[in-house]
Amino acid sequence: MTEKLSREVLDNVRANYFEIKENIARAAEKSGRKPEEITFLAATKTVEPAVINYAVSLGLKHIGENKVQELLSKYEEYDLKNCELQFIGHLQTNKVRQIIDKVAMIQSVDSRKLAAEISKQSVKNGIVSNILIEVNIGREENKSGVLKEELDELIGKISEMPNIKIRGLMTVPPICKEKIEVCKFFDEMYQLFIDFSCKKSDNVCMDYLSMGMSDDYEEAVLSGANMVRVGSRLFGQRIYR
Ligand SMILES: *Cc1c(COP(=O)(O)O)cnc(C)c1O
Repeated sequence: MTEKLSREVLDNVRANYFEIKENIARAAEKSGRKPEEITFLAATKTVEPAVINYAVSLGLKHIGENKVQELLSKYEEYDLKNCELQFIGHLQTNKVRQIIDKVAMIQSVDSRKLAAEISKQSVKNGIVSNILIEVNIGREENKSGVLKEELDELIGKISEMPNIKIRGLMTVPPICKEKIEVCKFFDEMYQLFIDFSCKKSDNVCMDYLSMGMSDDYEEAVLSGANMVRVGSRLFGQRIYR
């Protein structure tokens, strides 16, 4: 523990955790699903392990880091007996081997090159790696993710690789001023998710549609997301050190 945890910080995390759970449950039911069908993943960048583990003690089951270095530095401290660690950020090919045996899923695969390296390292480690394909749904320059018209070919290529399993789609939509704008991107993602769910292919299971963050996770669930990634709404404003 790098600093004394204040009661106030933990009390806020507790209140936030149950509020988010409730909001997810309500959105799930509104969209005809059960609360337990929605995975609540906490985005834990900049959050110290003791605080993350406190959230885990409340019932949080999924955490996600977005930087390799940070994940490695915190790795020994996560309570991985009670929660599952995923990688949600941009991943450089040359860093795959550093995390391949440490994460339950890599959410941010957007190229054949990256997938090939995940496949290769998974074979070496004797494991099968779960991945999501990241889609650049807003067609933003300088943003990770494949364009939707590239999705079919990429999924086809990855599905031929050994020891790698596509489990769904992920996106980080453009920052939108209005909720109605971001919902258009969520709806477009849901349509892609449904389209690819219908195309049966080996090593591809469209189990997860990962979208929605602190400001819009309820909208995402209403649009059909079954995994949300929430950071600051749970842990408070991030403090970059
Ligand atoms: C940080 C992060 C989130 C969560 O962001 P908040 O706005 O703090 O909820 C979700 N997804 C990814 C990939 C992130 O890096």
